[in-house]
Amino acid sequence: MAKYSCGDCGMEVHPISCGKCGTELTHVNIEKDDGTTVGVAECSNGCGKIKSPMCCGHDMAAAD
Ligand SMILES: [Zn+2]
Ligand SMILES: [Zn+2]
Repeated sequence: MAKYSCGDCGMEVHPISCGKCGTELTHVNIEKDDGTTVGVAECSNGCGKIKSPMCCGHDMAAAD
């Protein structure tokens, strides 16, 4: 299960739950068309995915 933290200010965000089914979202990295990867939080039941939370102007890093 992913927990997100900001390296700049130390802010932590605990796992987010799916708004549809309540399952804890799983952190995955997906590759974009330009070859860069972006972290997203995805529902393992296939409801969909949301972008990782941001803090201090950049994506928060996921840590187990
Ligand atoms: Zn921050
Ligand atoms: Zn779901």
